[in-house]
Amino acid sequence: MKEAQAFAGTKIADVLNAVDALYTDIDKSQAEWKQKTPAPCPDGCGRCCEHFEPDVYEYEALYLGAWLLVHKKELAEDIRLHGAAFSLNYTDGCFLFDPHNPHHCRVYGGRCLICRLFAHSGTRGKDMRVHWKPCKFIEGTEKNREHREYAETELIERFGCFPPDMAQAAARLIALNPENTETRPLREALPAAIEKLKLILRFLTPPEPNSPEPDLPSPRPLSA
Ligand code: SF4
Ligand code: SF4
Repeated sequence: MKEAQAFAGTKIADVLNAVDALYTDIDKSQAEWKQKTPAPCPDGCGRCCEHFEPDVYEYEALYLGAWLLVHKKELAEDIRLHGAAFSLNYTDGCFLFDPHNPHHCRVYGGRCLICRLFAHSGTRGKDMRVHWKPCKFIEGTEKNREHREYAETELIERFGCFPPDMAQAAARLIALNPENTETRPLREALPAAIEKLKLILRFLTPPEPNSPEPDLPSPRPLSA
């Protein structure tokens, strides 16, 4: 993960790379599902973030903070200094949701675990198999009209695949840091994570007198 380079040799770099590996595996396991899914998200929807803000583990916040420090440095500084107070969506829903932008999420490349899983993952049922239900905001089509729960066997029969297991992904994230199972609202966890990352960077790259703050690596082009 390029964002980890500035922290090379520290535990933070290991954390960022481990979370990145988890997110990459989720992307891979969702690729076929999204291609064949009977329920793609409509363009510009984003209603799941309008009245919801995630509670996150510290490692998710550190990953998002590191992503912001590379890709959106000014936004990272706003969040560090002002928390959610500057946001466009302060009182209800995620403070990183932009109602005026068709893509809505201001931190898409660094977004949290649940943001990656919601609507494109399943839950494990009593039969210990994956079950999946389309998001209620997805418009019905001939293929996906039924807003009901589908069992793994039916998903395989009808679509040839099934989505990743949400609980398994969450367990993998918790296993990265089993001593810290506390979650906090994103608007609290993210400013603290950015502060921590910047403090570590200051130790790693001590500034010359009167020199500006050290720069992080240039952003890589974002995929869609
Ligand atoms: S998960 Fe549902 S609410 Fe969220 S973008 Fe997709 S369709 Fe819209
Ligand atoms: S971080 Fe982005 S995707 Fe996640 S809840 Fe906030 S606006 Fe939505």
